Amino acid sequence: MRKFTEPKLVVATHNQGKLEEIARLMEPFGIDTVSAGQLGYDEPEETEDNFVGNARIKAHYAARKSNMPALADDSGIEIDGLGGAPGVYTADWAETPDGRDFVMAMTKSWQKLEEANAPFPRTARFRCTLVLAWPDGHDEVFEGKIEGEIVWPMAGEQGHGYDPIFKPEGYDITFGEMDRWEKNKISHRADAFDKLVKGCFSS
Ligand code: IMP
Repeated sequence: MRKFTEPKLVVATHNQGKLEEIARLMEPFGIDTVSAGQLGYDEPEETEDNFVGNARIKAHYAARKSNMPALADDSGIEIDGLGGAPGVYTADWAETPDGRDFVMAMTKSWQKLEEANAPFPRTARFRCTLVLAWPDGHDEVFEGKIEGEIVWPMAGEQGHGYDPIFKPEGYDITFGEMDRWEKNKISHRADAFDKLVKGCFSS
């Protein structure tokens, strides 16, 4: 596995929240971060039908443009009773002409489970894929996940996206009801970052 030895990392995102989260993680290693958005890059089209493919597109695009290593993530929720949907289309299910509506996306998920008469527990998992790409075309891939089930009604005001209908395994509250600190310890993203740090950032 290739180690990261450069002083600076491009975070292939236009999302300020993601940049801050990754910047905080890189700080202990003395690594400076800048986002693709801050560098004025456009966003490449995510044309693949899987998380790794789309994260690769974003990471390699930013690495080539900047001539620096770049880190991209792609995440989403897979619901077993819906054959793994929405998967890579997790954010798309929330799209409306006026922006993203996650209450609509969660309602749709539950309605589809009801229509399918899906058995209980309605198992699901969040996945997070991280790709670290270098300008010479090399990359390293890290995959994180957290298992759980889809519950109804929505519960909790914390978090974002589909958090209010996802109850992680071993807990009796949803991600939406969970303290952010607690969620960040056990989440799919924490799992993937842990593997990235062990693989590329630790000696
Ligand atoms: P993307 O990786 O930025 O394309 O995001 C994919 C979508 O997955 C997000 O818009 C969220 O709806 C959903 N998602 C990813 N991680 C989480 C999470 O931790 N909680 C809730 N929703 C999430």
